[in-house]
Amino acid sequence: MVHRITLIPGDGTGPELIEAARRVLETTGVQFDWDVQEAGADVMDKYGTPLPEGVLASIRENGVGLKGPITTPVGTGFRSVNVAIRKALDLYVNLRPARHMPGVRSRYEDIDLVVVRENTECLYAGIEHDVIPGEAAESIRIITRKASQRVVRFAFEYARAHGRRKVTAVHKANILKATDGLFLGVAREVALDYPDIAFEDRIVDNMCMQLVQRPQEYDVLVMPNLYGDIVSDLCSGLVGGLGVAPGANIGDGLAVFEPVHGSAPKYAGQNKVNPTATILSGVLMLRYLGETEAADKVQDAVAAVIAEGRDVTYDMKPTRDDPTAVGTQEMADAIIKAM
Ligand code: NAD
Repeated sequence: MVHRITLIPGDGTGPELIEAARRVLETTGVQFDWDVQEAGADVMDKYGTPLPEGVLASIRENGVGLKGPITTPVGTGFRSVNVAIRKALDLYVNLRPARHMPGVRSRYEDIDLVVVRENTECLYAGIEHDVIPGEAAESIRIITRKASQRVVRFAFEYARAHGRRKVTAVHKANILKATDGLFLGVAREVALDYPDIAFEDRIVDNMCMQLVQRPQEYDVLVMPNLYGDIVSDLCSGLVGGLGVAPGANIGDGLAVFEPVHGSAPKYAGQNKVNPTATILSGVLMLRYLGETEAADKVQDAVAAVIAEGRDVTYDMKPTRDDPTAVGTQEMADAIIKAM
């Protein structure tokens, strides 16, 4: 069977990372028909928009996409293409596993967390305006029963399907009584349908402290969009940083896989950054496609290369200027060889 996949190289370091991931994925023997779609800052001049028409249509048609990061200008300029894709296709779950792999330099070892982030609303609804320009601005935070229900249900279904023991809902319902109060209330309701999975809730600030002090006590975490963005980066930091953190955006019948990290523009075109997060996003994609054997093969090869610690990028070496660090493509070559 040939899998037709929308391939979005993105911008910044995106194209080189996607190239590395594509080569690794093709080595599994799984057949891909890549439908390459340009998006991001680099195509603004060509198309007049960072998200040309064909991109969403292609994902809708193919059902699955693999995406490199895309830059979002800070403060001014176009809104996030990444958020636009998630919202337009109603990819309502952002799944971000954070598992420690032997060989990765990090403060903790036995960590296996999964962040399930709501992906369509909260402050990312993008409803904001100046009240008095330069003096006061307002942003509206949207939380709905429907979006809360489906993301919490996904977290429990994921927990059940993957033999997980506990789901923790993360919120700030003590202060944001209407919005986070609704999210927490819905989470408690949904939890009643899953008596086989433990359920608890944590206030987000306490959650951050607990994750730093006792991350081993947590399992699947589910939360609204903004907390999910921040807490998932925190969890990436616990297991070795953004270079190794994969992600998936999942809706009903549609999914786009991409690393947690951004476009790291200062390293663009230097063949320097770590391809692991993008390759492991490809592993999540293989599992979604039912290609379990190929997924295991890539994951084991990545783990072997990291555990050996020789053919790895700068961020995985003891010091950042380690002269033995290899480039993005060379690390991918080592993974291909290990397969
Ligand atoms: P970033 O994730 O791009 O980079 C932050 C730092 O993390 C980098 O300077 C680097 O030190 C490290 N890093 C990131 N990826 C790495 C890798 N593969 N290997 C090694 N080290 C890595 O975050 P940022 O600088 O805040 O954002 C840059 C741009 O990316 C912004 O425009 C932002 O909006 C965008 N962004 C896009 C996405 C996405 O496409 N989904 C996600 C987050 C940020």
